[in-house]
Amino acid sequence: MILDCAIIGGGPAGLSAALVLGRARRKVILFDNEQPRNAVTHKSHGFITRDGVTPREFRDLAHQDISKYPSVQIKKFKIVEVKRENSSVFKLITHEGKSYLSKKIIIATGLKESLPNVDGIKDYYGKSIFSCPYCDGWELREQPLVLISENKNAFHMAKLIYQWSKDLVVCTNGNKIISEAEAQLLKRKGISIKEERILKLSGSDGKLEKVVFEDGTEMNRSGGFITTELEQPNDLANSLGCEVNKNGRIIVDALGRSSVEGVYAAGDVSVVGPSQLIISAAQGTCAAMGVNSDLTMEEFK
Ligand SMILES: Cc1cc2nc3c(=O)[nH]c(=O)nc-3n(C[C@H](O)[C@H](O)[C@H](O)COP(=O)(O)OP(=O)(O)OC[C@H]3O[C@@H](n4cnc5c(N)ncnc54)[C@H](O)[C@@H]3O)c2cc1C
Repeated sequence: MILDCAIIGGGPAGLSAALVLGRARRKVILFDNEQPRNAVTHKSHGFITRDGVTPREFRDLAHQDISKYPSVQIKKFKIVEVKRENSSVFKLITHEGKSYLSKKIIIATGLKESLPNVDGIKDYYGKSIFSCPYCDGWELREQPLVLISENKNAFHMAKLIYQWSKDLVVCTNGNKIISEAEAQLLKRKGISIKEERILKLSGSDGKLEKVVFEDGTEMNRSGGFITTELEQPNDLANSLGCEVNKNGRIIVDALGRSSVEGVYAAGDVSVVGPSQLIISAAQGTCAAMGVNSDLTMEEFK
């Protein structure tokens, strides 16, 4: 059997694409190895009608919606390779060596992130330390916060967080990433900067209490934010020859079409907007419409 579309990745982008294609009566398999970037967090915010759901609940509800459409299957497989079988069909290979043929591919694999190099930071990430104030700023509003950043996004992020809490210290963990002029501007707003290296974070059950520095000083903070480095989680887009921007995100048009015919992308992995569940879901819908529209045109040739 040749699928109409294989969707790689079952986050909001891939799930939304599956729903739209199922409703368009297309034969689809969604492959998902269930390792989304937001799995660490307890609650997701900002998706209208779903504000405060857990990432697991969000997925379960999406699977329930999709299960109404019999032409869509969800398989818990990792896709390790995609190649062209011929000019109109792709071959996908799973980690178990099974192969599937499909006319179109939607890459919705999300991104992989690396956190600042601070001992124990993973214990707090998604619980009291987050990466996006739109997602989790409300829960941390008016608290004493820390921004831990080792890259040039620090200045922008500090200004942004100020909207949620004015009690903010920026920690650069031994890096010189904020210019004198930027530091002055932050200082005028009462935001201080500490460039000492962080020895460790301290607290319990993921709730931050203190940041401890290598010079022996420490600072009480009840939560905060980090800036992360993001990259493609695998080589699929590269190996297919998809054009990417300087941040490694796949360049797509308004209907999710990449530079490679038959390959579409949606969600964090593509270039369109900020990293948000609702934006990824919308991009999944657009890519599904791109796929269905292109298949329809081909069928009427
Ligand atoms: C800590 C944290 C908290 C967040 N909180 C919020 C929030 O409150 N509100 C909000 O709007 N956004 C939030 N976000 C951002 C949001 O999670 C992302 O923008 C969104 O999940 C991106 O959706 P996606 O479908 O592109 O990718 P993802 O949700 O990352 O899903 C990608 C899926 O593809 C799978 N996959 C990857 N490669 C393969 C492969 N080769 N084969 C098969 N499957 C594969 C992955 O396992 C994963 O399940 C948060 C992010 C983080 C890190």
